[in-house]
Amino acid sequence: MSETTLPETTPLKTGKVDAVIVGAGFAGMYMLHRLRGLGLAAVVFEQGTDVGGTWYWNRYPGARCDVESMQYSYSFSPELQQDWHWSERFSAQPEILRYAQHVADRLELRRDIRFETKVTRASFDEATNLWAVETDRGDQVTARYCIMATGCLSSARLPDIAGLDSFQGATYHTGHWPHEGVDLAGKRVAVIGTGSSAIQAIPVIARQAAHLTVFQRTPNFSIPSRNAPMDAEYEGWWKSDYEAHRAKARMMRTGILYGLNEKSALEVTPAERLAEYEARWAKGGTAFMAAFSDLITNREANDTAAEFVREKIRGLVKDPAVAEILAPQGYPIGTKRICVDTEYFETFNRANVTLVDVRDAPIEAITPTGVRTRHGETAVDAIVFATGFDAMTGALTRVDLRGRDGLGLAEKWAEGPRTYLGLMTAGFPNLFMITGPGSPSVLSNMIVSIEQHVDWLADCIAHLRARGLETIEATREAEEEWVAHVNEVADRTLYPAANSWYMGANIPGKPRVFMPYIGGVGAYREKCTEIAAQGYTGFRLKAGSQAAVAAE
Ligand code: NAP
Repeated sequence: MSETTLPETTPLKTGKVDAVIVGAGFAGMYMLHRLRGLGLAAVVFEQGTDVGGTWYWNRYPGARCDVESMQYSYSFSPELQQDWHWSERFSAQPEILRYAQHVADRLELRRDIRFETKVTRASFDEATNLWAVETDRGDQVTARYCIMATGCLSSARLPDIAGLDSFQGATYHTGHWPHEGVDLAGKRVAVIGTGSSAIQAIPVIARQAAHLTVFQRTPNFSIPSRNAPMDAEYEGWWKSDYEAHRAKARMMRTGILYGLNEKSALEVTPAERLAEYEARWAKGGTAFMAAFSDLITNREANDTAAEFVREKIRGLVKDPAVAEILAPQGYPIGTKRICVDTEYFETFNRANVTLVDVRDAPIEAITPTGVRTRHGETAVDAIVFATGFDAMTGALTRVDLRGRDGLGLAEKWAEGPRTYLGLMTAGFPNLFMITGPGSPSVLSNMIVSIEQHVDWLADCIAHLRARGLETIEATREAEEEWVAHVNEVADRTLYPAANSWYMGANIPGKPRVFMPYIGGVGAYREKCTEIAAQGYTGFRLKAGSQAAVAAE
């Protein structure tokens, strides 16, 4: 279904539902489906005009998933996964959005989704144990459960650069790309940033623009995708036993089925090591980081992979000075999210592309006509901000969420997010997060993690209802322990060594805390399952009378 044929959104205005779900991306869509299956009345509020979440907003040129198509899809419906055909090894944004739209049609989800509606505030009423949810369209809805399916990378961020508003040309953010498309043909374009989004957009923009100037502060490691049309044999292999393959993927560290080499990079000969890296480089994709078991825990091992990629960059980029600027130094490979590209480094060999290193000479201002550093001004017609997101917490804290005693979530998380399992936060009964901070989320195949959280939540809600319980809430003790565990596991890795958005380091003033859980999708799943099986250890479950009826 195309957006233009969408039914008119009818605001709810007032009413009572069992559950409010915030966001109609892959998490919100599946949550709605599961809650309907339990017989609950649920409504989804979504800011966009259609479903798709990340894939609805991030329409920049070259946007593509870096998890293989056969794995980046729902697994809950055997029919759906058999019927759907992906055209490429790694799907591009339009195809993933079509998939989301297809699922919405197939499950008739849209009738319970209120589009173009932003949730502004949700507060817990201790007298009734209900959430009061307000939207920017004037809805005032009460709900037993409030489920934040708001995504980890959905709060787009513009840097605080002087003169931003003075620019007379066009400005775009990759995370809010205009739906009607953008014609950059013949234009002088600036791209600010060189993260995953920029690395995908730059080669495409370079082919369109008269001239492209890339402003790079921190270079990134990137692996070629080797994207190709879907191989029929490979698709057949997946579909021949999808259930079994999915079951294995769910227990992998990243929720992705790929060959993890159990050996240390330091236990093999240099020739064997090189052969492993070469094979993975030739195959393409993020599985490069699974070349050895200790790349993310041992700096010496990591250095071997980092240097391999730097050498590749030196080989791909003709001008040695440009190659050195593009070759990442000073942080371990993989500790900022590894990028996957199609001819990114080669793009800097083009005559119409200029790289500006702003590490030592930051962008001082956007002027009416361009971008200025202390070395001078670059005149441009358009600026593309590929400057990322207020990751993991931004989409949650920008809603005025109020728990017990009016406690605000933003206030509670002032020193960094605090959750139990990334599912709930103490003081906010019946407020659930899907792939929240403290869960594997962004370190995993998001759809695998989304399905795990949604299934866990649906089972949890069914448990509460079957026993006549009104609320579930994480205890402070369980939260303390989980936060300590998340940090302890992160500290065993090299991740904290990089100034990444995982650490909140991309937002001035944001606390430096490693936000996702790096203990692995499989281990985390087992933990969640065990906690539920033991009667929700670490949660306080209460009947309407407020009496605690289940173990902590
Ligand atoms: P990002 O990784 O946070 O990159 C933002 C870029 O903007 C960085 O290079 C950053 O430099 C730069 N920047 C920010 N402020 C700046 C300033 N004032 N001056 C100069 N440069 C500035 O954001 P993203 O590329 O949108 O990616 C975010 C995440 O989304 C990814 O890590 C990934 O998880 C996900 N994603 C995935 C895919 C995929 O599946 N293929 C594609 C796109 C995005 P510094 O590094 O120096 O801060």
